[in-house]
Amino acid sequence: MKKFLLGTNWKMNKTLAQGLAYSEALMAIIGKYAQFEFFIIPPYTHLWKMKEALAAQKSPLKLGAQNMHEQDFGQFTGEISPLMLAEIGVDIIELGHSERRQYFNETDEAVNKKALAALKHGFTPLICIGEQQADKDYGVSPEMLAKQLKIALTDVPATAIGQFWIAYEPVWAIGVGGTPAATPYVEEIHNFLRQVLIDRYGPSGQAVPLLFGGSVNINNASDYARLDNVDGLFIGRSAWEPDLFEAIMAAVGAVVK
Ligand code: PEP
Repeated sequence: MKKFLLGTNWKMNKTLAQGLAYSEALMAIIGKYAQFEFFIIPPYTHLWKMKEALAAQKSPLKLGAQNMHEQDFGQFTGEISPLMLAEIGVDIIELGHSERRQYFNETDEAVNKKALAALKHGFTPLICIGEQQADKDYGVSPEMLAKQLKIALTDVPATAIGQFWIAYEPVWAIGVGGTPAATPYVEEIHNFLRQVLIDRYGPSGQAVPLLFGGSVNINNASDYARLDNVDGLFIGRSAWEPDLFEAIMAAVGAVVK
């Protein structure tokens, strides 16, 4: 049975020591929740050591990188290539997070190139899309999201279904200043995204995991998790402490069996 996805991106937070302590604590907790597939996405500098720690315990916890260059090597100072991440044994590559788009000018076209490279190297691209507050105010969220999704998936074949994940993260809901999205809104948008995937891939578009993220917390997680087209939750701040993350697992575990 397909497991419900639960994971967290640490952004530029936690030292390696803090990250290792966190992953030790998390590994001890997740065995209680067989219905979930867990992932963590730490900063690049932590990946080798964290992979070693997970492997030492044969943990099912998946490890992701927060970004990746699409080329295998080259004159791209400051970038990290697929070969480097493959050598570590990273599972997931997060692409197109709104902070990458906002502060590092990442475009839909760049996300598409990176997604294709990630698939070629056997990673799970976790492609993030999300509309701005202004898009929502003008009533054009579906158009904006369809554009992001369609460009990100250009040339991604139906044979890759199951290998890539999509995270819908409304920009206005993300981070400290974010406003949690109303559940009916999340339902409407996830149903819409599902239809875009079905239009693109036929009935097998049903099998693309659609995660929701943006101010997910203990109070709203189970409401989102109940929705038909929500296949996982992608959590920031509220999962950065293992005990807070565990409280969310327990709440979601009550509705996802
Ligand atoms: C995010 O930035 O992807 C995110 C989900 O953050 P938060 O949960 O802190 O809003």
